Amino acid sequence: MAKRQGRNYLNFYQQCIEQTHRFSVHLRSKFQQAIDNEQLQLFYQPIVALSSGKIIGAEALMRWQLEDGSFIPPDIFIPMAETTGQIIPASQWALEQACHDLSQLLERRPGFCLAVNLSALQFNRANFFEQVITTLQSHHIPSECIELELTESILMDDSAHAIKLIERFRQAGLSVAIDDFGTGFSSLSYLKKLPVSKLKIDRAFIQEVVNKASDEAIVRGILAMARQLNIKVVAEGIEMAEQAIRLNELGCDLGQGYYFAKPKPLNDLLNDLD
Ligand code: C2E
Ligand code: MG
Ligand code: MG
Ligand code: MG
Repeated sequence: MAKRQGRNYLNFYQQCIEQTHRFSVHLRSKFQQAIDNEQLQLFYQPIVALSSGKIIGAEALMRWQLEDGSFIPPDIFIPMAETTGQIIPASQWALEQACHDLSQLLERRPGFCLAVNLSALQFNRANFFEQVITTLQSHHIPSECIELELTESILMDDSAHAIKLIERFRQAGLSVAIDDFGTGFSSLSYLKKLPVSKLKIDRAFIQEVVNKASDEAIVRGILAMARQLNIKVVAEGIEMAEQAIRLNELGCDLGQGYYFAKPKPLNDLLNDLD
């Protein structure tokens, strides 16, 4: 009896694995179709100056919409695309698209800055630097108008390589931001070595910044350190007016979050700039 039940569980378990496997193969091939048929989209979430509420730039966020109109969340398809390598062509498409859209944004608002997310796979590829520069040049985009967002995990992989590459990008005039700052395992000492221009404080510390003394203390600490190092700070995931007000009082320059705007198509962002 017990043995039969054990076998049943094993069967069930095996079926689950097979189904999961079939689903992930299906997802991969659907994603490949989306890349090949240019069905991916970029949405833009405004980044605002907290002191004035003025939009100074935006972050480009990839969107994958299925034929039935539903969206697959980036937290599902980005990690998948990183394991399959599909993130490389998808990211190259995204950079091209961002540069194309940025030329329209710059006509409306000179000095506008677009932030694009990078994955470790891109960062560690030969010729990545040249590829980025060539793409910017072909769209006549000034390098000061693009910001590369890296996560702390990219820096951990091979920090010597990362430092060199970040230096090259900075020398070429691009900005480099550390995304989701505070959630990685990194030691703070890398900030001394890395010529980054911006830290994006993770939403986890912003959510309770008004109610929790410990979160406010962490945010204060990050701001004080960034000021000393001459690095700008963006607070991510601002959802309420009180958070925006408090962060501005604490001396945080920039904010991003649903309170100001959700990620939106280019045309909606262009309308915001009128
Ligand atoms: P991220 O780069 O940290 O982007 C911020 C995420 O927070 C976005 O999620 C955004 O929609 C969400 N967000 C912004 N404000 C709020 C808020 O007030 N409340 C809440 N709850 N969420 C907020 P999204 O678009 O789902 O993207 C998730 C992650 O997927 C991104 O995190 C980034 O790591 C990755 N990702 C998105 N697009 C790309 C891309 O083109 N390339 C790469 N490599 N990664 C991307
Ligand atoms: Mg980001
Ligand atoms: Mg982030
Ligand atoms: Mg994130």
